[in-house]
Amino acid sequence: MTITENSVVAFAYTLTDDDGAVIDSADTQAPLVYLHGRGQLIPGMEKGLDGRSTGDQFSIVLPPEEAYGIYDENLAGAVPLSAFEGVGEVAEGMQFQMELADGVRAVTVREVTGEHVILDGNHPLAGETLHFDIEVVSVRAATAEELEHGHAHGPGGAH
Ligand code: ZN
Repeated sequence: MTITENSVVAFAYTLTDDDGAVIDSADTQAPLVYLHGRGQLIPGMEKGLDGRSTGDQFSIVLPPEEAYGIYDENLAGAVPLSAFEGVGEVAEGMQFQMELADGVRAVTVREVTGEHVILDGNHPLAGETLHFDIEVVSVRAATAEELEHGHAHGPGGAH
């Protein structure tokens, strides 16, 4: 079966950065499952999977613009350490949900200096070119219930 809108797709992948370091992966035993055509994957991924079939193996290279965006310096800034009183210890790599001008955003603690915490609202993969090696494990038509819910069910699915 070929991947078209409303296909439920299972695929294995290895995601590496420009230096070949592995960022993330899923093997054929525990593939990623999603409903195609609903914006559940980043746009470049859905475009790359469109029209592929079970067993296909291929690579997709996505520049930041088609992945998690260009790194935006304006989303990073220093907050006084005193603002975190009562939160407990603040350490590099911690993530918070913060209410910002454009809504709730996940921010990451980049650095803790003597009196400030450098927060970064960019996606951790912003600015990265992503290299996906993909193998399509299975393709099937979505059930009526899946279409109604807008996501895939079953192993690897939403619930
Ligand atoms: Zn559901």
